[in-house]
Amino acid sequence: MFWLGLSSVEFVRYDRQLGIISEDGQLKLKNSTVLIVGLGGLGSVASIFLAAAGVGRMLLVDKDVVELSNLNRQILYNTNDIGKAKADLAKEKLNKLNPYINIESFRLRVEDEDFKDLVKKSDIVLDCLDNWRSRFVLNKLCVEHRKPLIHAGVREFYGQLFTIIPGETPCLNCLLPKQPPEEKIQVIGVTPGILGTLQATEAIKYLIGRGTSLKNLLLLVDLSTMEFKKLKIQRNPTCPTCGIIKK
Ligand SMILES: [Zn+2]
Repeated sequence: MFWLGLSSVEFVRYDRQLGIISEDGQLKLKNSTVLIVGLGGLGSVASIFLAAAGVGRMLLVDKDVVELSNLNRQILYNTNDIGKAKADLAKEKLNKLNPYINIESFRLRVEDEDFKDLVKKSDIVLDCLDNWRSRFVLNKLCVEHRKPLIHAGVREFYGQLFTIIPGETPCLNCLLPKQPPEEKIQVIGVTPGILGTLQATEAIKYLIGRGTSLKNLLLLVDLSTMEFKKLKIQRNPTCPTCGIIKK
């Protein structure tokens, strides 16, 4: 792949993080492709921080338009955006935040044939979805194409997060043998705000190869008590999606 360097303006833009991640880390971000699936509460926040950090290519996927009831948590959008496509709005707004990166928007569902190509093109995928059916489809695609997937889920004041490295760590289907029933959840905007920020953090660390990731660990967050717990998780050898033992 063509390796892009940093311009003098970018050295200034990223000045306050270059001392932490180095020019090499910044170049790794610039030359990475991140696929963000879902541009709701989680995706709004994750995409803002990844664009600000300088991820060079962002693929944004959401089929929906902005609704009034989204605005308690989906901070990419404002009241004037109601009725407009989230993917296109997100691209426009993130481009204003950082014009030095390449952002592409797609009004697709994970079940659409064209979506597979986006998974193949990406270096890492963020599950910012709000329903289990789509999450299971995305998990399967990432396992098939060996793409790291950062899952997050929220409800009320609670959140969960873990990083899936296909072939190495449990996948979503290892943890949840059966797809949970769909339900309309209640959520305070800060919960996806924090979990989306944590997803962006995991993605940045993975891309620059720094720190310890949530591999084989499930992070459970209870913001009502400010408890953050990490639980060890294991692959299911007979998992229908990533199992080593095929039935
Ligand atoms: Zn699995």
